[in-house]
Amino acid sequence: MLTPEHVKKILEDYTINLRFHARGGQGGVTASNLCVEAFYGYGVCQPMFGAERMGSPTESYVRLSKNADLVRSNEQVYGPHFVSVLDPSLLTEVDVTAGIPKGGWLIVNTEMDQLTIQDTVKRKDINIATIDATRIALEVLGRNITNTIILGALVRVSHLFTFEELSDAIMKRFKGEVAGKNVQAIKQAIEETCIYDIGIDPDFTLDSKVPWQQVNLGLPGYKDLDKAGVWYCDEDAIPVGSDQVNTGSWGEWDVIWDEETCTDCALCWHICPDFAIIRNKGEDGLWHMAGIDSFHCKSCLNCLEICPVHAIDKKLKQGPAACAVPEDQEGGN
Ligand code: SF4
Ligand code: SF4
Repeated sequence: MLTPEHVKKILEDYTINLRFHARGGQGGVTASNLCVEAFYGYGVCQPMFGAERMGSPTESYVRLSKNADLVRSNEQVYGPHFVSVLDPSLLTEVDVTAGIPKGGWLIVNTEMDQLTIQDTVKRKDINIATIDATRIALEVLGRNITNTIILGALVRVSHLFTFEELSDAIMKRFKGEVAGKNVQAIKQAIEETCIYDIGIDPDFTLDSKVPWQQVNLGLPGYKDLDKAGVWYCDEDAIPVGSDQVNTGSWGEWDVIWDEETCTDCALCWHICPDFAIIRNKGEDGLWHMAGIDSFHCKSCLNCLEICPVHAIDKKLKQGPAACAVPEDQEGGN
């Protein structure tokens, strides 16, 4: 297990590198900014966005050191010593452990236990910390913004900055009640973080870069697109399209439709941004509400708000936290 003294010594001669995986809107980039602001030394951070859309996967990178010359690189972090995952659905959608050296740390917002996470990401050689940040966010902040809460878990395992240093950074960035609630949520996260330490520390002398690779996605080139640059979802012409993107994994709620209460007004169908309201043509020749397409529903809750008869409800996807490593397993604390 890392100690504050060990981390302090490492930072004199090397960088400690972090990567954050989040979904658009969850504040992964703010989390990386706050790391630099809370750190008593030198640091840089960079974000990387894919499709700029609420809920799509994002990454951000942080380099920290006491030596200013070591943090001048602006390229992405390839060998992160600490990786934080703000949304548990990313565990199976993104290679969150890419480049983590043996003994590195994976910190996940989840209700799963740490051994299940090791199985999910297929890495037994890394340390795992878990925090049920979604529950804390909803309880304390009233919104599923888990970025500051995951930093509480980072404080607990990394010793890169203290609770007080992180609180100062939060108070500078946010104002009044928002700042106070975030500090409260971080304190709770530090106390509730569960740690599975395999007894190996990462090699901090590594900042490895994976060889550059050409990835062929089989997507059309610019010559294949029409003049407006649009990909039509026509399986005969182009076998890809947004209908195949599982936007249903982006949100934290299961959205539930009550057929008995529904008056078939179609307001939800008009407002849904992802065409996730299913309507079927009835024998009367008219279209009728038939359900919610969970593969595409990203739980924006627009339909829930607009439904005049409350025929749509929500249920949190995450269950209660299972933080503790099973007692018969070694290494947990
Ligand atoms: S919550 Fe409702 S409006 Fe939003 S994506 Fe899902 S079905 Fe559509
Ligand atoms: S808005 Fe409500 S009542 Fe109207 S179709 Fe949708 S679920 Fe049914």
